[in-house]
Amino acid sequence: MPLDNRAFGLTGGSGVTIIRAYRTELAACDWQLRMFREHVGLARFAYNWGLRRKIDVLSFNRLPISPIKIPSAIDLHRELNALKQTHFRWMYDMSKCAPQEALRNLDAAFKNFFKGRARFPRFKSRKGGAGSFRLTGAIHVRPGKIKLPRLGWVRLKENGYLALSQYERKLKHLQRTVSRRRRGSSNRRKARAALARLHLRITNVRNDALHQATSRLARTKSVVVVEDLGVRGLMSNHRLAKSIADAGWSEFVRQLGYKTAWYGSRLVVADRFYPSTRTCSLCGHIRESMPLSERRFCCDRCGRVMDRDLNAAVNLSRWPGVARTLETPVEGGVQPAATSAQPSCEAGTISLDRGPNRWMS
Ligand SMILES: [Zn+2]
Repeated sequence: MPLDNRAFGLTGGSGVTIIRAYRTELAACDWQLRMFREHVGLARFAYNWGLRRKIDVLSFNRLPISPIKIPSAIDLHRELNALKQTHFRWMYDMSKCAPQEALRNLDAAFKNFFKGRARFPRFKSRKGGAGSFRLTGAIHVRPGKIKLPRLGWVRLKENGYLALSQYERKLKHLQRTVSRRRRGSSNRRKARAALARLHLRITNVRNDALHQATSRLARTKSVVVVEDLGVRGLMSNHRLAKSIADAGWSEFVRQLGYKTAWYGSRLVVADRFYPSTRTCSLCGHIRESMPLSERRFCCDRCGRVMDRDLNAAVNLSRWPGVARTLETPVEGGVQPAATSAQPSCEAGTISLDRGPNRWMS
């Protein structure tokens, strides 16, 4: 069962504390997997028990639904701890964080309800969703592993899982299997569970690829320029296109935004009407048109011949705000890899569902 877990770390740097969230897939052994499932069950149990208690308090006392009159997560956790000694002794085998955090989630669900952001909280079902639980407290991270309360050291599944076409074949196969099983049968349920696991795995793989791409850009470049072209076309079969298309362009830009801030580099968003593709990077001449089929830029005036994307990248490096940063690297940042005004290092187009966008660095 692939499970997502987040560990929070603190990084000091020039007097600023940055809280980072890491998302990683765990490679748990058999007994750990069993423990994960039990914790998922415990979290669900605590959530549903707490919800039942809140509803009971409201209905027994004939109270109007109001945030101040129902027991809070702290009240409920105290109550649950007392019941643990008499009614729920099985809970001693598991981390106390799981029910505690589940009750906090329940409080958040009620808060969202009272603020009008969500409907009245519902009971959690064993079916639907992979299930989750949250642990807090003594969590330690070492290269390749993480120590969790009650679960000990769990290996991280960090690398070596970029071969997506293989997953796609498997996905098709599993989808077919599900549709062939009789509705309502336990075999269909099993096939659906396998399919859900694969979907989660693919999501993890793609998110990982996206994070790696944005981290690499933010860490090694002093400026990352993003140009939103906002039109379809400009197809280039970039290796990352699919993973970025999957997670979405806005997520790509969002990650670049906070990561460039971490690493002391800069994200610049260029105007979509800037004719970066049609302008000659040598003499500044602007061509009337630049058909998609032309992979090379040929200047009508000075005769410059250059790769289409590279020419656009050089033009974008002159975008207001970019040149300034290229001259004066941000203090405290990682030594920029490209500080000259000729950022010939990387240029590429990434095609997306929402329309193509260009990145350069
Ligand atoms: Zn020219």
